[in-house]
Amino acid sequence: MSGSASESIISPYVEVALPVPLRKLFTYDVPSGLRGSLQRGSRVAVSFSRRKLAGFVVGGREDLPQGVARALPVAGLLEPEPVFTPELLRFLDQAAKYYMHPLGEVLRAAAPALPAGAMRRLRADGFLEASENLPGQRVARHRTWKVSATGRGAAGIRLGARQRKLMERLANRESILLEELRGELKDPRAVVRSLVDKGLAEFEEVEAIRDPFFRAPVTRAAPPVPTAAQQLAIDAIREAIEKRAGEAFLLHGVTGSGKTEVYLRAIDEVRKQSLGALLLVPEIALTPQLVGRFRARFGDDIAVLHSGLTARQRDDAWQALRRGRVQVAIGARSALFAPVADLGLIVVDEEHDPSFKQDEGFRYHARDMALLRAQYARAVCVLGSATPSVETYHRATRGRIRLLSLPTRATGANMPDVEIVDLRRHRTGPTGHPLLSGPLHAAIGECLDTGHQAILFLNRRGFAPSVRCAGCGAVAECPACSVALTEHRGQGALRCHYCDFHRAVAVPCACCGCTEYKRLGVGTEQLETAVRESFPKARVARLDRDTASGDGVEAVLARLRSGNVDVLVGTQMVTKGHDIAAVTLVGVALADQSLAFPDFRASERTFQLLAQVAGRAGRADTHGKVVLQTYQPDHPAVRLAAQHDYESFYAEEIQARKEVGYPPFARLVAVRVHAGAEADARRAAQVLADTAHQHQAVQDGVVQVLGPAPAPLLRLRGRYHYRLLLKSPDRKLLRNVAAHLAARIDQGLPPTHATLDVDPL
Ligand code: ADP
Ligand code: ZN
Repeated sequence: MSGSASESIISPYVEVALPVPLRKLFTYDVPSGLRGSLQRGSRVAVSFSRRKLAGFVVGGREDLPQGVARALPVAGLLEPEPVFTPELLRFLDQAAKYYMHPLGEVLRAAAPALPAGAMRRLRADGFLEASENLPGQRVARHRTWKVSATGRGAAGIRLGARQRKLMERLANRESILLEELRGELKDPRAVVRSLVDKGLAEFEEVEAIRDPFFRAPVTRAAPPVPTAAQQLAIDAIREAIEKRAGEAFLLHGVTGSGKTEVYLRAIDEVRKQSLGALLLVPEIALTPQLVGRFRARFGDDIAVLHSGLTARQRDDAWQALRRGRVQVAIGARSALFAPVADLGLIVVDEEHDPSFKQDEGFRYHARDMALLRAQYARAVCVLGSATPSVETYHRATRGRIRLLSLPTRATGANMPDVEIVDLRRHRTGPTGHPLLSGPLHAAIGECLDTGHQAILFLNRRGFAPSVRCAGCGAVAECPACSVALTEHRGQGALRCHYCDFHRAVAVPCACCGCTEYKRLGVGTEQLETAVRESFPKARVARLDRDTASGDGVEAVLARLRSGNVDVLVGTQMVTKGHDIAAVTLVGVALADQSLAFPDFRASERTFQLLAQVAGRAGRADTHGKVVLQTYQPDHPAVRLAAQHDYESFYAEEIQARKEVGYPPFARLVAVRVHAGAEADARRAAQVLADTAHQHQAVQDGVVQVLGPAPAPLLRLRGRYHYRLLLKSPDRKLLRNVAAHLAARIDQGLPPTHATLDVDPL
């Protein structure tokens, strides 16, 4: 098995990757007591600059590097088993090289957090004090019973009501956990025992992961018969899995075309071959329904990695995966690093979603890295989307990944009709609210009259995106960031959406002392209020970062699913993945919003948002309708999303990218510099620009240097940000110039902090 065979390092020294902003490894001496106990991927404690740091052993070494006279000893082994499998370590090393990021920081970002108190539990001999001796360490371990039917028929055996009920529950499930039976059966343990005595059921004691995604019981569901298009896709993926050649696919299927069913079949296939699978989704909190579908198909042997897990739960999931006890992992971006043993398949659902890009610290793109990890593991990679990113579709047209298409909805439902409302002509509707035009107002009324549900999308949370002093006209700004403060009326506060600054609304203006202010623009909170006022009988709910923390998301979605919400108002959280039969109307309050961003991807992003949210409408028997309000009805992103025409949008967009030489026709590397004082940031950015200009490839004009310039948000959390952009159609030369700058950064540019962002978004 490739996943588990690690070998002890017997050399006198080890190379350790440390979480410091330097692109190098550090050599440490292996004290005799630890000899034979360290492996590649082991987490160790070492002294560094008079601090104790946790780092990872990446290899052994026979002698000291040149010019180094003496190495400090490894202070201790922080976890008995290596955190990373050899497969994962090899991949992460490649990822660090690709992003030109220090390996130690990459490994720290990929590893689960160090168990609490581990540093303090190190004994003088370098080993950990046994955790059994520490009170409170083991409480979270959770033992339970996994119950299954023996398959013996119950004919002729007399059963009580509770026993019969349990037999029914087991009939369509491979196995069931004891706690799932609580709430359905009184004293489930006794019922299980009585069935075991009769030879009808058996159980084994297992360690289970305690988790909100596993609280609600699910019924095992028989898979639907695949459509012809699904079958073609499934066959192609199955063949690739059998070949183990690391092939990649783009599964391009319109919203509701049954992509998830293809993922389920593909995962079923790898499980049959005793291989592991990894499913990446944009936001795990938004996908309880998806997790439910996976549990209904595969039972509970699934690790769901999400931010709500405690350190202990995360560690449990990590162990279970690494040992191959659980072979399927589902999670957002960072689940890319899950130590799935014998990886056979990686699926990236909604591969176009910008949340796959990590935008702090180790900046990576989980979709691109999924392709890389799969390639290294010889696993199959499936990227799925109704609105593929331009880069991915381009790769597919060039034959670098294989295109699989699902052109129609799986249930036979038609795509919804889209009505474009030109806000320049319509202005305000009957209620006078600027974002409830006549046509949208009428459509909501009709939807409610027929007992259906509506989703209204507006990509701004809060009540008003900014407020202006009525006296002097000054916009209220965040003291730490160069952005306007958003009014949140429910909280009676103005908030910064970048740092956590907030203050009361009714504070006198800093310039003129006036306490009156004017609102600019509309946010979801205001739209919700407008809908409530216009349709007093409707049950209205809101889904955005303000209403939806933790369980809040699931609560709102559950109410929508069970028909207890008539109108759901929300940010892009409402555009993702939900499959709810009674939703027949989708309203887009302001389709141009995302077009205003100063970014070459603004048009693509707008098309994706509009096509995705429109895809929520009319997924079952009743025909769906979409009302799209906009000031730019002729913009291709708006017009083609309304026609559900991805191919034409792609054709226009790729042409535009070609003309201006943006990705995929050029590659980008952003260099970011920040400092507490603007002058320092500007100066350091200039030093780096000058360094770049010394490079031959820049002098030849093959690599362009744009900037330095202040970042779009010059001030962020009290620091000043400058940017430099390297751009080139020649990937190799671009990397050479970037490496040249990385070396300059490693020499230090105090007091600033400089980083590289390869393939920035
Ligand atoms: P997507 O992931 O492409 O948005 P889903 O997999 O969620 O699509 O499928 C949309 C709906 O169609 C779901 O309700 C699903 O149960 C149903 N479905 C998928 N495949 C089939 C099929 N082969 N036959 C019937 N219904 C299907
Ligand atoms: Zn701020």
